[in-house]
Amino acid sequence: MKTIRQITVLGSTGSIGESTLDVIARHPDRFQAFALTANHSVEKMLAQCQRFQPRFAVMLDTASAGQLADAIKAAGIRTEVLAGIESLEKVASLPEVDAVMAAIVGAAGIRPTFAAARTGKLVLLANKETLVMAGRIFMDLVKQHNATLLPIDSEHNAIYQSLPHHFNGNLVAAGISRILLTASGGPFRRAPLESLASVTPEQACAHPNWDMGQKISVDSATMMNKGLEVIEAHWLFEAPPEKIQVVIHPQSVIHSMVAYVDGSVIAQLGNPDMRTPIAHAMGFPERIESGVSALDMFKVAHLDFEEPDFKKFPCLKLAYQALAAGGNMPAVLNAANEIAVESFLKRHMPFTAIPVMIAHAMETVRQEEMATLDDVLKTDTLARDVARNWLANLQ
Ligand code: NAD
Ligand code: MG
Repeated sequence: MKTIRQITVLGSTGSIGESTLDVIARHPDRFQAFALTANHSVEKMLAQCQRFQPRFAVMLDTASAGQLADAIKAAGIRTEVLAGIESLEKVASLPEVDAVMAAIVGAAGIRPTFAAARTGKLVLLANKETLVMAGRIFMDLVKQHNATLLPIDSEHNAIYQSLPHHFNGNLVAAGISRILLTASGGPFRRAPLESLASVTPEQACAHPNWDMGQKISVDSATMMNKGLEVIEAHWLFEAPPEKIQVVIHPQSVIHSMVAYVDGSVIAQLGNPDMRTPIAHAMGFPERIESGVSALDMFKVAHLDFEEPDFKKFPCLKLAYQALAAGGNMPAVLNAANEIAVESFLKRHMPFTAIPVMIAHAMETVRQEEMATLDDVLKTDTLARDVARNWLANLQ
């Protein structure tokens, strides 16, 4: 008899959250949604509670939690409604929870993700920002508390699948020469450099292959997403930056590759649908059905590869620089990027100002080491202030 895995889905109303619930719904004999969480989308959360009957539903926003609690009572559902960041941490760490899908977007996800690791959960990590902000501290925490970390980001999940089973974090011992991190190149891969200054949020959010939340869509358009993923790969696989090569692959069919010293390259392929990496990690080590259709090689027909254009996508370079600098710099990069993306989406600044704002924050915030989550959160606040001030002085 299989025991049913109790899962907390942090960010259940988002793109990854909904895909996760889709996989849960396909396997009622394996998984149960123990807790669902969201920022403030009451209607979506109510519908999810009706369908999945979780033990808890948490809204970050207190007023939204009040509305949800009334609606849940009226609907006769037994879900308990909680509010605030401490409640997010609580539902990520309660003893009944087996696995936590960390799918909140941005730095907002770090505290509950840390809470899951601290209580030794199976952490299914979509929130790459946690690793970018606090890579070493988070990986140490995972080890210290015997948590299990499985990557949901499609590239990292692909790398995980392409590594030898005995991989213990030592690339050299495993005979690995390079990690090939694929990137679609985003919606502006073919756009002339001069045209980027006038792109709109709608154009930036229209990704050619993936249907994702707004923030990661803009990150894909600037290629900061790939930059964040280089840092994520560095921490997950203990790979030095020079062994992580970004490869533009516009079809998004190969999700990443691992190159070995004997000349072999192992890749993971599939249709671009996040339910594949989600099902892989949720069912691990078993393979379970995900709802994703089989890859039709004849329809794919071509697999193309290009080198990334660092001049057109300076965010990618900034991410490599932040990783090389170490200490608090990746956290500064991440915080400034979040402010930059938000400012661009609100039409307060052009697309091309995004890397300028981030570079300014990286030059302004003093470089230092970080030892605790508190240090990380302080760096995050400081870098956000620096980025906001830069924009205010511009206007
Ligand atoms: P999304 O914007 O679609 O959803 C974000 C979720 O987080 C929502 O449920 C929202 O209510 C919640 N949320 C937002 N702000 C919050 C806050 N301050 N406090 C608490 N909850 C908050 O985002 P997404 O595209 O699903 O991405 C989620 C994470 O997964 C990101 O870190 C992203 O980089 C990563 N990721 C996403 C994809 C994808 O295909 N969408 C792929 C790989 C990795
Ligand atoms: Mg990815």
